[in-house]
Amino acid sequence: MANLKRLATKEDNVVNVLSPLTMDEITNRNKDYQHLTPKQFGTRYSQLLFQPVGFTLNGTEHRIQYNHCANPYCLWHGLPQLKFETKRKPSRYRLTGSGTDKSIKCNPDPKGGAVLGCYTNTLSNWSIAEEIERLVRVNTVQEQQPDYEFHKEGCSVGETTPFTAAKEFYKRGKSKAKSQRYQCKTCKKFTNVLPKGRQAITYHQQRSDILPLFMKLLLSRAPITRTCEILGMYSVQM
Ligand SMILES: [Zn+2]
Ligand SMILES: [Zn+2]
Repeated sequence: MANLKRLATKEDNVVNVLSPLTMDEITNRNKDYQHLTPKQFGTRYSQLLFQPVGFTLNGTEHRIQYNHCANPYCLWHGLPQLKFETKRKPSRYRLTGSGTDKSIKCNPDPKGGAVLGCYTNTLSNWSIAEEIERLVRVNTVQEQQPDYEFHKEGCSVGETTPFTAAKEFYKRGKSKAKSQRYQCKTCKKFTNVLPKGRQAITYHQQRSDILPLFMKLLLSRAPITRTCEILGMYSVQM
């Protein structure tokens, strides 16, 4: 049976964005903020533009790098920044534009390939990774796992729970919310656990009285905004 769910929070680390900067780099940066002009600062750190940012989602590591040519007809389309091993060592892309209005321009191919001199807007890989994290998080629910205290202080089987060592506990009927009540055989402490989803669908819902009408409106395809108005439901700004 499914456990009760709650919305995921930042602490659940559903998506882990790996900071592209080391602690030393952050320290240096904080020093440079004071000493350099905006232009000098931009020049010093401009290569970070081409550095991929990693994040883990469901145990898999992903890397994103959006600063590359976006023109599908160009030879450089989708390719990472590269320094060519020819005379003067040109790069595949160079940063152009003034102020915050920057783009990357495709430099010619030293071998004479079809490079179209495209301009592509720059993006912050790090910000995109953070946005992916936010989108996944607001669409994720986690099981509620409260910290139960199944024992009185100093109980000799104090580490056990009914989930890991059922034989240390008596089952003592059901709570008002129809969840199981347990009693430790040693210290005699009673504990109620949270009900499972099917035992109490209205648990933790402050206005369970509106559920039938809510269901009816959903099934009759009333728009969500209208449904919220009718039921007096207002979202909490986060
Ligand atoms: Zn291009
Ligand atoms: Zn106990």
